[in-house]
Amino acid sequence: MAPAVEQDFKGVRRRLVETLQQNGIRDLAVLHAIDETPRHLFVPTGVRHRAYEDSALPIGNSQTISQPSIHARYLELLKLTGNEKVLEIGTGSGYQTALLAKLAAQVFSIERIPALLDKAREIIAQIGLRNISFLMGDGTLGWRQYAPYDAILVGAGAPEVPLTYKEQLAEGGRLLIPIGDKEEQTLFMCTRRGDELEHEEIAPVRFVPLLGKYSWSS
Ligand code: SAM
Repeated sequence: MAPAVEQDFKGVRRRLVETLQQNGIRDLAVLHAIDETPRHLFVPTGVRHRAYEDSALPIGNSQTISQPSIHARYLELLKLTGNEKVLEIGTGSGYQTALLAKLAAQVFSIERIPALLDKAREIIAQIGLRNISFLMGDGTLGWRQYAPYDAILVGAGAPEVPLTYKEQLAEGGRLLIPIGDKEEQTLFMCTRRGDELEHEEIAPVRFVPLLGKYSWSS
């Protein structure tokens, strides 16, 4: 992209960061990651001019990239320090994956739609992030090979918490997951304490359904 065009996006991106700050996002590392990440590259060219609005946008295959304020809130809740191993379910555009890569040590991300995963991989390579591993498949199974995870983020709504996530969380690890029906859910933050998961209700949310063996059938 021509430097002048990137320059234009820098201004609107900074305004988005200021809006997020005014709306209560305090975590400077999260705000910095958003300020540094070119969201416009992760959305289709037809909606690129809207990349720095605080809106969800279509990314193809009937899926969406979430609103920046949702990403910011999700990431702020996790209180990442930079040393964590994180599992993300639902790569989608790869934008949140890129933010996570700047806030944690290692990111493992699973997507079930090959076309989305290929595109996300391509942009992540283009912007030079190297601490991310991708898997194409059913994210309700988790990714046992690299477990346990300090945090698991689920970007799609499930009827209940798949047991696999509890099993693959480290002791004290945090799971963010929307639970509810296919249209509306409540975002829960779950913390692993021994064999139990402590649940904290965060906010009402609307995500696309999590489809797979341990969630909604596709
Ligand atoms: N956070 C993403 C971003 O920044 O673009 C948006 C995620 S989008 C709201 C939800 C994604 O979850 C979709 O891409 C969808 O294909 C994916 N998904 C749904 N069920 C899945 C599953 N079982 N395994 C992996 N991905 C799944």
